[in-house]
Amino acid sequence: MNTGRTSRAVRIGDVTIGGGAPVAVQSMTKTDTRDAKATVAQIRELEECGCEIVRVAVPDAEAARAIAEIRKGIRIPLVADIHFDYRLALMALESGADGLRLNPGNIGEEEKVKAVALAAKERGVPIRIGLNAGSLPKTDPTLGVAERMVNSALEQIRLLESLDFDLIKVSLKAFDVPTTIEAYRMIADRVPYPLHIGITESGTPRKGIIRSAVGIGTLLYLGIGDTIRVSLTGHPREEVLAGYEILKSLNLRQYGPVLVSCPTCGRAEADVVKLAEAVEAALEKIDRPVKVAVMGCVVNGPGEAMDADVGIACGKGKGVIFKKGKKVAVVVEKDFFTALMREVEGG
Ligand code: SF4
Repeated sequence: MNTGRTSRAVRIGDVTIGGGAPVAVQSMTKTDTRDAKATVAQIRELEECGCEIVRVAVPDAEAARAIAEIRKGIRIPLVADIHFDYRLALMALESGADGLRLNPGNIGEEEKVKAVALAAKERGVPIRIGLNAGSLPKTDPTLGVAERMVNSALEQIRLLESLDFDLIKVSLKAFDVPTTIEAYRMIADRVPYPLHIGITESGTPRKGIIRSAVGIGTLLYLGIGDTIRVSLTGHPREEVLAGYEILKSLNLRQYGPVLVSCPTCGRAEADVVKLAEAVEAALEKIDRPVKVAVMGCVVNGPGEAMDADVGIACGKGKGVIFKKGKKVAVVVEKDFFTALMREVEGG
């Protein structure tokens, strides 16, 4: 699997991106950045569920100024998302932004990009060159979208490098998964910088999580990607939780519980769906990594339940509870949930 592309390490606040550091999970607020109170409240919610870097939109000067207030109320590094106006980038830096996401291509003349790069360098603040397929400059129409994204990113990387700036991260996002994968594979071989990966505008949680998991998961499996964002039309908490599920699926991070539950079938001898849903909800309150199995019968049940930290193999009216591979109790159906959770909570 992982071909182990080791990118150059870049620090944002106290989080290291690349250089072999754990793949970091990020999200973006959906509040009006000018409303510092609401934005801080949302970022705190994101911190609670494990978000490691947060990005806020900076559409105007008031939003850039609000970063100073937001910064005081949060613990994780904050990235200011800037388009078009380089003065907003300078103001966001003044306000204490830990990172900038911009597209130097839409900032305008080199002098403006230079002013931003100098101010960022002085503060040790990294810049993410963030390309989106939807806002690519019209260049050679014979080239595909992935190639045009890569060429545009390379041009902008060279511009920052010519200004002696190398605190660079890169993202090349498209809605189309194969295009995104192709673009990242190309750039991964051409630059040493850490890559922020994601599928842009991937949709509402139900569809978007799948689309993102396929795109982000494929890239991570190929060893490409140093930080991720699952972009969803929904609460940003969903983005963070989905991000961790992707990383846990590839054994790249351990974060909170993992629930193994069987799909149930005609052999199930208990209401496994209800039990699994209740266990999933209860596990949301647990921070530590623990693997819990909820299985519907004695065919695959004992094997999976024994393989988990804590598991139950349900039978007719009775279930066997396993802990670290050993049978610890036989319980009646009405006690399935409480007996299982007692073992989980017992550590
Ligand atoms: Fe069916 Fe049993 Fe497998 Fe669940 S564990 S899917 S009930 S065979």
